[in-house]
Amino acid sequence: MQVKHNIYKLPFLHPFTISKGTKTEQPTFVVELEFMGIRGYGEAPAISYYNIPVEKMAADLEQKKVFVEKFAFSDPERYWHYLHHLFPANPFLVCALDMAGWDLYGKLKGKPLHQLWGLDTAAAPLTDYTIGIDTVEKMVAKIKERPWPIYKIKVGVDGDMDMVTALRKHTNAIFRVDANAGWTLEQALQKIPVLKTLGVELIEQPLAKEDWEGMKILFEQSVLPVIADESCVTESDVEKCHLHFHGINIKLTKCSGITPARRMIARAKELDMKVMIGCMNESSVGTAAIAQLSPMLDYVDMDGPLLLAEDIAEGVGFDKGKILFNGIPGLGINMQAF
Ligand code: MG
Repeated sequence: MQVKHNIYKLPFLHPFTISKGTKTEQPTFVVELEFMGIRGYGEAPAISYYNIPVEKMAADLEQKKVFVEKFAFSDPERYWHYLHHLFPANPFLVCALDMAGWDLYGKLKGKPLHQLWGLDTAAAPLTDYTIGIDTVEKMVAKIKERPWPIYKIKVGVDGDMDMVTALRKHTNAIFRVDANAGWTLEQALQKIPVLKTLGVELIEQPLAKEDWEGMKILFEQSVLPVIADESCVTESDVEKCHLHFHGINIKLTKCSGITPARRMIARAKELDMKVMIGCMNESSVGTAAIAQLSPMLDYVDMDGPLLLAEDIAEGVGFDKGKILFNGIPGLGINMQAF
């Protein structure tokens, strides 16, 4: 097996603001695994507050490249275990390699992953489209620019309730709100009932990621489902979130790939929790991986390619929130070899 990598800095269509700051480009790390003339691809975008820049992913891979290449690849789950032990401190890099392993596996079998997993694409939920924090005028303009059945609205800043109230006047779409850990328990208890009257479907990560005591109270009192994001990073966090959140938002990059994500979905369902997969502004490569898993989900947030001004592959299409599968083996992408 041969491995190569590439780093991209993909510009956003509009500067993207959440409660933690503003970004104008998304750095992303992409790997290519070649085996018997077939190439698989995987991606991990860097998110500053997780402290794994793309340069670190590249350096760690280069250092142990020989071990990545010498693995006798047969199935992606065994490959993930190997990678997980090879790069214990770099789940982002493991995610990119795991995803490439799954893409390769699907291509070797000649089938899209959802087919290999026995999933029915008709069961895939609609994906939302994210509106970053901005002036109300600009947020309204973004809604008008892309009519969509479900918007995810970033909140967690002063004046956020006025923002949601104003946006509601311009669309009847379903709203999801993501506070990115920006509220206190008191604020959450006060805001959530009002948000329910504004047609909000769920609340993502209202409180600080370590505020388990606050979340226990909110879990019992909230009139809307509360979904963990920053509080749910790795597999073991699913248990921790049980009885503190109504569901979890899995990010492939944070949890280290498709392999652990599938186990997290299964465990969350056993615990009767809702499951969402969210994006971290991946290009069409990482987004295709979310699409393959989407028939197992309650909610999906995979709008990365819609928020970015440049893409690096052709992947899944969108028809106003509906995911358009393309039947391409593996992840379902057309990518130029590097
Ligand atoms: Mg979130």
